[in-house]
Amino acid sequence: MHTSNLPPFFDGRPLPPLQDILAGVHVVEIPMRVKFRGVTSRQSALIHGPAGWAEFAAFMEYGAEEASAWLAAAVEAAWLGYPEPRRTEVPVNATMPAVAAHEVPGVLANYEGEIHEIKIKVAESGQGVDEDIARVAAVRAALPQARLKVDANMGWNHDQAVDALVRMAEFDLVYAEQPVSTAEGLARVREELRRRGVGTLIAADESVRKAADPLRVAQLGAADVLVVKAAPLGGVRRAREVVRAAGLPAVVSSALETSVGIRAGVALAASLDELPFGCGLDTVSLMAADTAAPSLRSRDGVIQVRDVAADEDLLGTWAASPQVTAWWRRRIEECYRVLSDA
Ligand SMILES: [Mg+2]
Repeated sequence: MHTSNLPPFFDGRPLPPLQDILAGVHVVEIPMRVKFRGVTSRQSALIHGPAGWAEFAAFMEYGAEEASAWLAAAVEAAWLGYPEPRRTEVPVNATMPAVAAHEVPGVLANYEGEIHEIKIKVAESGQGVDEDIARVAAVRAALPQARLKVDANMGWNHDQAVDALVRMAEFDLVYAEQPVSTAEGLARVREELRRRGVGTLIAADESVRKAADPLRVAQLGAADVLVVKAAPLGGVRRAREVVRAAGLPAVVSSALETSVGIRAGVALAASLDELPFGCGLDTVSLMAADTAAPSLRSRDGVIQVRDVAADEDLLGTWAASPQVTAWWRRRIEECYRVLSDA
């Protein structure tokens, strides 16, 4: 992570001792309702510290370097807590995984209350643009008034992205998230859509989250909207600085955490100066269980800003195997070493 224009972790305070962090760790493994990112269950480490509960849930394939920012975010939450909120509730979008069009109503039925905004996953490997269009059409048919957006997770090349987004223009998309992989590629797709008179905005997600410099996408004029997650950017305070420095409207997204991790995203969204789009924080419903009760879920398109604590019974029910727990504890040690050396 490029750090020269970002504040240090933890407001410049030292890291707590590793033993203190490990003493508060509870590793869980929770089944997913719908396969997401190729996984059918989600493992994560809940961490209890003096300021409350945090969730360390860096994706399994990430090495210690990349995952260390996620640990920094968890330590921020559990040892410093969250900055003062500027709002009491956060608008959210519903999420439609890359299911077949006939499965769309079933997924929508998992949401309580009215859906005002929904993000539809597209460009899943093994699927074609026709399946994407059928899915988007099915969502539009079910929700004629809602704001629709698509997320390709870098899954298209330039020609596929332009073709798909031109064809999807009839469904009146608010924005397309990361249609192609690079920041330069986003800029080209954005320019080509404008040239063809398609007004769909371009949002950058992976180009912010996985980039050496999260601000580069803004400097290149590659996107109209930033998608930010608190954990990969090293915490709520640092992510807020990235948004401020970029000078673009931001959407806050989850990384498929339980309610404890979602709380960090809600804190980030609540701390931003402006929040013009629904955030991708209503993802607890994609999991079959949670670590907190009641869950931090939306009602009528908003999540209330409130504290969330892990529930000891739920932590016991969903406790990971000894092998999985040992793996996460080792991972925390490795990430801690990266942060200590930074
Ligand atoms: Mg995304």
